Amino acid sequence: MAFSIRNRSSLAIKLIIGAGIILFAFIKYWSNTDTNKWTGRKQHITLNAEQEISIGLRSAPHMAQEYGGLYPDQQLQNQVDQVGRKLINASIAHNTPYQYDFHLLRDPNTINAFALPGGQVFITYGLFKRLENIDQLAGVLGHEIGHVVGRHSAERIAKQSLTQGVISGVLVGSDGSSGAAQTAQMIGNLISMKYSRNDELEADELGVLFMINAGYQPEQMLGVMKILKQTHDGNHIPEYQNTHPDPEHRMEKIKEAIRKYKK
Ligand SMILES: [Zn+2]
Repeated sequence: MAFSIRNRSSLAIKLIIGAGIILFAFIKYWSNTDTNKWTGRKQHITLNAEQEISIGLRSAPHMAQEYGGLYPDQQLQNQVDQVGRKLINASIAHNTPYQYDFHLLRDPNTINAFALPGGQVFITYGLFKRLENIDQLAGVLGHEIGHVVGRHSAERIAKQSLTQGVISGVLVGSDGSSGAAQTAQMIGNLISMKYSRNDELEADELGVLFMINAGYQPEQMLGVMKILKQTHDGNHIPEYQNTHPDPEHRMEKIKEAIRKYKK
């Protein structure tokens, strides 16, 4: 009897501590609220621009290495750089504190493009060689600049620490069984996936705006989507698809953005 009472009270303590951890994670998350100057959207972010730039610069060489380093042809590197610069100079990206750099990665098989916080932008040769014109390159880079201006990585970092807090809270509050751990992990994944899809759509919209600002044909962003769709076959699922929403859905939103910004 005594044993079961003690067991129950220790369970209550566990629940209280678990709830406290979750509450603290939410308070920390919600108290770090900032309105993005360039998009006007309210965000939960714990990093400042300097920290974003420094994280991006520090991880850039490592990221490049994962895709076989930089593509050796300097002429193609310059082409990527020129299109990137043109997008920046003509748009609100120019007013942000970020340090933009554009890198063509050597990997010829992986279809991917991504941005690190603070302005380091990458495109693999695998994606680059499939693009049909310079406007499509502008579409890919514009989308990635959109992630930087939208501060999506910084937002994701804040979300991750919230998710981590919720997971620890659930684990402490439960009996710590693998079932509880799995449930906690699942909740965590759902939270970050939902947000990440919204990030992608915002990056598409910003990309369209930057393309129009710089004089590129925004309709070519639809061409990029078609390429992504084509490469989505059984034996060759591009990495891009794991983190990006369905191209069909994106195309609808891109068309909306073109109607919104094109005069
Ligand atoms: Zn993206």
